[in-house]
Amino acid sequence: MSLADKLAEERRARLAAERLLELKQAELSAANRKLGRHALALTKQIGETQAEVATVRDENAKVKSDLSQANEKIETAERRLWHSIQAFQDGFAFFDADSRLIGANTAYLNLFDGLEEAAPGISYMRILQILTDEGLVNTGEMKPDSWRAMMSERWLSMSPEPVVIQMWDDRYLRLIDQRGHGGDVVSLALDITTSVNYEEELRSARERAEAANRAKSAFLANMSHEIRTPMNGVVGMAELLNDTTLSDEQKLYANTIKNSGEALLVIINDVLDYSKIEADKLVLHEEVFDLERCIHEIVMLLQPTARDKGLTILVDYDLFLPTQFVGDPGRIRQVLTNLAGNAVKFTNEGHVTLRVTGISNPEEGTCAVHCMIEDTGIGIPVEKIDHVFGEFNQVEDERNRKFEGTGLGLAISRRLIELMKGEIWVESDEGKGSCFGFRIPLPIVEGSHAGTPKLPQSLRHILLVDYSTLNSEILQRQLMLLGVETTTADSVSDALSKMNDGIDLILSDHAISGGGGLELAQQLRQGGWPDAPMVMLCSNPHEYNATDIENLNIDLLPRPTPRGELFAKLESLGNGLLDKQDASAPAEDQPPQIEQPQLEMGQIDTDRTETQPGCADQTLEEAYAADNASAPPLPDPEPSGARQMRILAAEDNRTNQLVFRKMVKDLNIELQFANNGVEAVALYQSFEPDLVFMDISMPEMDGKEATGEIRKLEALTGRHVPIVALTAHAMTGDSDGILAAGLDHYLTKPLRKAVILERILQHVSEGFQEVETTSAA
Ligand code: ADP
Repeated sequence: MSLADKLAEERRARLAAERLLELKQAELSAANRKLGRHALALTKQIGETQAEVATVRDENAKVKSDLSQANEKIETAERRLWHSIQAFQDGFAFFDADSRLIGANTAYLNLFDGLEEAAPGISYMRILQILTDEGLVNTGEMKPDSWRAMMSERWLSMSPEPVVIQMWDDRYLRLIDQRGHGGDVVSLALDITTSVNYEEELRSARERAEAANRAKSAFLANMSHEIRTPMNGVVGMAELLNDTTLSDEQKLYANTIKNSGEALLVIINDVLDYSKIEADKLVLHEEVFDLERCIHEIVMLLQPTARDKGLTILVDYDLFLPTQFVGDPGRIRQVLTNLAGNAVKFTNEGHVTLRVTGISNPEEGTCAVHCMIEDTGIGIPVEKIDHVFGEFNQVEDERNRKFEGTGLGLAISRRLIELMKGEIWVESDEGKGSCFGFRIPLPIVEGSHAGTPKLPQSLRHILLVDYSTLNSEILQRQLMLLGVETTTADSVSDALSKMNDGIDLILSDHAISGGGGLELAQQLRQGGWPDAPMVMLCSNPHEYNATDIENLNIDLLPRPTPRGELFAKLESLGNGLLDKQDASAPAEDQPPQIEQPQLEMGQIDTDRTETQPGCADQTLEEAYAADNASAPPLPDPEPSGARQMRILAAEDNRTNQLVFRKMVKDLNIELQFANNGVEAVALYQSFEPDLVFMDISMPEMDGKEATGEIRKLEALTGRHVPIVALTAHAMTGDSDGILAAGLDHYLTKPLRKAVILERILQHVSEGFQEVETTSAA
């Protein structure tokens, strides 16, 4: 090859190498640029990662510090908890699910009297063993192994019942164990020695108190009885005395002895009953009795008082309820008399209704008899209603003092009803009335179940004439149940306007407006109804003239009438109508025979109304009036112009007024009575007495208050009338309160003539006529 060729070849090779170099350089710089970009991105990424790492590190540090704080808190809480547990006077321990002791406070461990084995790790069963083996626990009458068996069975139950154990040193521990979810058990051993001892003391104190109470009640029962016996003698002899030939004055004295004795007997009987119940000595004497009859007898007893007050007494005895039961009639009558007596006592207008219903239990042969006594009286304030069944609890305010009573009646009634396994209650609306009710289970007398009374077919429509809608309603309901149609009227004219041929019988009250039942009868007889059967119901049949009744051809029944008696009367009148129909019509359809299981009900002795307490009072009142009338003529006024000494006696009890009057009857004095404190203050002003005898317990305003009022009036006039307190409270200390109330002297009852005379003479002053005349005692 030529040189030129070689040179050319070399140049070409060099050129090619140069191009390659350029290419490689371009590639290199491109790669460099890429590398630069990567390095930049990487630096950025590293920066970010470093920031993240820093944050995480910070957070870690915070978590660490939080954790250690939390740990510290836990430790503090644990320490406190443990200190508290240690500070417990009572034992505290934890057991794991295998019943091994995890930990316990010193009080718990001390139970084991320093035994080293009693430490964490010991099992509960071993603890029981140690307790019995070492005699640490007093298992009483139980053998140690039975005790342990009982205790371990209890321990293993899901929720062990608390148990009381007695330790060797007479300490009592109540063990309370609580099982947790994981099987752990928390155990408490509470030292209840003090409360057990206290309970024991209380129990024995209560036993002593109950024994003392029983002894007191037995004593009271005996005492009441001891008083009752001679009192009966006093009352009985007074009655006998009355049957002998006596002057009017002697009769009056004998009657007063009898009435006062009877009043005292009522109180003593209450106390006696109450004491008997308290001393668990009251036994029920059960026998067959007629409840409806019993109720009607009670109504008759209360009728005179109710009549005087213008009250109506209604009886609503369930038509389908048997009347014969087995029970203690005396005690049932006592409860009913108390409730109905209270209803009459605390009602001034309206009515008192005795309702009797019952629910039979044929399987047991008993009936839950339900008696309710409703009144439209003064009612009982809500706040007092729970107290009225308590002993000596009366609704104590001004108004209550108007009413007499021991405050024992309802307490006795409640106890009697409880004794009969019944219940008693009251509902009341103050100012509107009260409803006392009781329910007692009474065995029914076999065969005495009341069938529905049936009335003759001749009685299809009855005209009921009554001023009381309630009474009409009761009768209407009863007659409706017997299939009899009723029309009601409330006055003579209303009844006459409703009379028509369809009415078979007239059942009328005696006290209807427009002239009364008698007037209605007259108008019916004179009008177009000469023969219409008419029954008149009246609370006191004796007030009517038998000839008038006969002439008017009407029948009288006492009100309220036992339903047996009423239906018997309706039946006989209905049968009379049938006879008339038979006489006038061909005998085709004979009336069905009447079935009247209740009709053999005994006749009630209506004469009883004549001998009621109200009537006895009446005698006293009459005697009192007669006594006033026959007061000895006063001596002529002395020419000197001297006047009689004026004496005011404030005394609410009429008998005591009479006694006082009799005691001073021979004295030449002018005597006036005030019936209560209000009247005493008024008479002090109008009568201007020279001496006042002031009873302390009086209605409306008592003697102390009245004296206070008088002393206030005297502060204005400068006068001072001597006031002598009369009181039945003879307890030591009573005089202090009385004298502090402004009274000058103090006399206790029973009053004695000589003492009264002495007081009067002590206050005679110049200008008075001579008080003691020759006849004075
Ligand atoms: P008391 O002998 O005072 O009547 P009770 O125990 O029978 O004693 O009654 C207690 C009190 O209950 C009465 O004093 C009276 O305040 C109240 N009370 C009883 N029955 C009635 C009633 N029907 N209406 C209003 N208050 C009544």
